[in-house]
Amino acid sequence: MSLLEETKKQFADPSPAYRPQPFWFLNHDYKREELEWQLEEMRKQGVGGVVLHSRHGKSAEYMSREYLDMLAFCVDACKKRDMVVWLYDEDNWPSGTFGGKLTRRHPEYRMRYLRLEERRLAGGAETARLDFGQNARLELNHFQHVTIDKYVITRVDKERLLRRGGDRTIGFDSRVGIIGCGSIGSQIASALSEVGMHKLLLIDNDKLTFENIARHICGASDVGKNKVEAVSEQIASRFPHSQNTVYHGDVLTLLRDYESLLNNCDFTVVAVGNMNAEFRLNNLQRQGIIDKPILYVWVEPYLAGAHAVFVDPANTGCLQCLFNEDHTFKQTVLDNPGQYAIRESGCQSAYVPYSILEVKRFINDLMFLVQDILAGSVKENVLFTWFGNLTMHRASGRQISPQWEHEGDYGIKRDPISSFTGCEVCIAQ
Ligand SMILES: [Zn+2]
Repeated sequence: MSLLEETKKQFADPSPAYRPQPFWFLNHDYKREELEWQLEEMRKQGVGGVVLHSRHGKSAEYMSREYLDMLAFCVDACKKRDMVVWLYDEDNWPSGTFGGKLTRRHPEYRMRYLRLEERRLAGGAETARLDFGQNARLELNHFQHVTIDKYVITRVDKERLLRRGGDRTIGFDSRVGIIGCGSIGSQIASALSEVGMHKLLLIDNDKLTFENIARHICGASDVGKNKVEAVSEQIASRFPHSQNTVYHGDVLTLLRDYESLLNNCDFTVVAVGNMNAEFRLNNLQRQGIIDKPILYVWVEPYLAGAHAVFVDPANTGCLQCLFNEDHTFKQTVLDNPGQYAIRESGCQSAYVPYSILEVKRFINDLMFLVQDILAGSVKENVLFTWFGNLTMHRASGRQISPQWEHEGDYGIKRDPISSFTGCEVCIAQ
């Protein structure tokens, strides 16, 4: 065929390379019939190929097994139709951030910039503040008839602020994981920040709602945000040097993809109120996959009681040791707390009212345990039991468990887990 003939033929019936090859947004369920149907419709209309492009709304996570299987299917389906395939190398747009995961895991790679700000000030004594975020605040004191009288640069770095705040040096460089950023988790994150721990890894898959805010550290202006981001911003607004990392997603999914993630933390607080997640973590610890300590925290209905279980895999006893075979907790403060609501951490749909003052009292008491953990003075695995206002609960007709019959209001107990009949796994060891 001559070049002219070939050219004519290509004009009449272009080969795939000369046909449109649009971005195909893969933003829904990956049903094979639907994918094949859409592709076939495009081919019929003269489309010569597609760019397979992951977008918001898809049912499978980017780069998950399901996602990769779908890509393989689409590549095959294109091949069958002699269509060209392009793989777009990113989740959503723009490319280069791995769907935002890169900068979430590595905040040091975030964009940095220099900002020039100009202010015109009216006469009279007036102070203009230039806020440079985490690094410095520049104060310009302006007086009448003088353009600029002096600059004052205020250091707001961590060492200076915290030393000025008092003796708060414990755990300065500790990295602490917090799973669950509801009422309890957010209060713990805030309390840890107050004592100088500014490398938190926050994990939660929820968004903040109006129902949450009465007992949460975040308020109405944060409603609708992902809890992890709202908590991180709230803490950063108080402690500009905090270096928290956040993961918005389900902890079980995260652990499936990255079982040893929590080993990057010196210890992890679990406040999800989800027994599946707690026992999964306990198993990962017993298998040696998680080799760092975990502190499980949850509260009982009406905050009649609250519990924290500290498990360092190097010590005897585990979370399971504190549960009966029917998965009920051995040391409940309320007798049969399930009759009031499911066990909750303060962030779930089952809503049992308790007051913010009691939450704070519990968290405050709990922080002394955390302080001991970080100081290395907790040498065995312990159950921390906190009692609420038992007099009031008894008066309200709530049954207190028989073993706490003589317990007073707002008491605290620390019992070694080894003092309980252990679970099968621990006994066998
Ligand atoms: Zn055990």
